[in-house]
Amino acid sequence: MKTKPLFIKLSHPIFMKYKTIIGLETHVELATESKMFCGCSGNYFGQSPNSQVCPVCLGLPGALPVPNEQAIKWTVLIGLALNCQINLSSYFERKHYFYPDLPKGYQISQYAKPLCQNGYLMVNNRKIRINRVHLEEDTGKLLHGQQFNDKGSYIDFNRSGVPLVEIVTEPDVESAPQAAKYLKQLQLIIQYLNVSDCDMEKGSMRCEPNISVVNYNSWQKNQQLPDYKVEVKNINSFRFVQQAIAFEEERQALLLDKNQQPKQETRRYLESKRQTEAMRSKEFAQDYRYFPEPDIPPLELNPTLIQKLNKQLQTIDLPTQRLEKLMKDYGLSSETALVLTENKKLGDNYLRLVKNSQDLDKTKLANLLINKKIAADLNPDDFFTQAKHLLSKKNIDQATFDQTIEKVIIDNPKAVADYRQGKQTALQFLLGQCLRTLGRQIEVEQLKHLLVEKLALKK
Ligand SMILES: [Zn+2]
Repeated sequence: MKTKPLFIKLSHPIFMKYKTIIGLETHVELATESKMFCGCSGNYFGQSPNSQVCPVCLGLPGALPVPNEQAIKWTVLIGLALNCQINLSSYFERKHYFYPDLPKGYQISQYAKPLCQNGYLMVNNRKIRINRVHLEEDTGKLLHGQQFNDKGSYIDFNRSGVPLVEIVTEPDVESAPQAAKYLKQLQLIIQYLNVSDCDMEKGSMRCEPNISVVNYNSWQKNQQLPDYKVEVKNINSFRFVQQAIAFEEERQALLLDKNQQPKQETRRYLESKRQTEAMRSKEFAQDYRYFPEPDIPPLELNPTLIQKLNKQLQTIDLPTQRLEKLMKDYGLSSETALVLTENKKLGDNYLRLVKNSQDLDKTKLANLLINKKIAADLNPDDFFTQAKHLLSKKNIDQATFDQTIEKVIIDNPKAVADYRQGKQTALQFLLGQCLRTLGRQIEVEQLKHLLVEKLALKK
């Protein structure tokens, strides 16, 4: 009797020794006009140090915090966009720890009752569960030595008290690329809600992955989370998040190979070394001595407010809706539509500008913006004029370009020799000769590029 040969796929679990379990904590600064608990301006970027502070955000004794209504509404809006349950009753708590950038000795945050709970975000058809979305205040910013040519450390309290939303996932993420995809999607959704610029370079979005590597077989058996996890603090780029996770996967697997258990700890990511480094043993919730903030009454949200915010959410185009709109209504290819969706500002400009350019090709208009052939900050009328001019340029085929350039090179040996000796004016002359044949209505930059290429070839 013939038996079927047994092939085992390389991705089969018997080849997998370890599994990575990742939970992601993301902090996003809300772009409210004022800070979370005082009237100071919330826009601190580029301001002179300690110019936007008051007794409340400096944590002076006796100062009383008053919650920012806009920040609460925006947090609920984020929660609704992430399919969360909204807690109509919630409250702020004090989270105690000592650090120089936290003058009060505690941060006003939420613990037992966050504003939003139990949501999810779909990432490539995989459900990443959201444990909670809560509201807290940002800390001050420490600046160390080098920047001032001395060894001191300095504190800027402009950031202290800026509203900060924390979004925490369940440990549903399995790999570094998946973490990056989740973060990118989260960033886009919040940008589309217009409540934060989520600029990782400026620090208005920061990410902390919690990573545990476990033995695959024992995970298969009991699906139990291990009693250690490693938190990597404040990472400010998608690339670094991926690198930090990859490093931890290897480090923890090597420990497990030696029958050692990774420590529960907080680490930092060193970009230059592409490594994580231990900072401190990881705190447990009880270390923070949470208790309800006595200076702020509990939050009671009106159900009609939630309905209103839900209605508002229905009117906002989120990334998936924009992508669909650009493909369906504007006839763009999925690649072009994706560029204009992932770069929200560029997409906003495109939608703003094409309104006045009805009779021009929408794909060509998108390419003009994507390839930076035309400035995106124009007014629609100027955009129309410039786009029309650019799109009316003749499309000359490659062969005509080649023939013209070759003829000009042969007919003008002196200019060619001059150019090869470094005379830039000779190049302008040769370019002029080509334009005389081809006419001025062509892409000069493209022609110049080809001419330079051919001059270099024929040496
Ligand atoms: Zn203040």
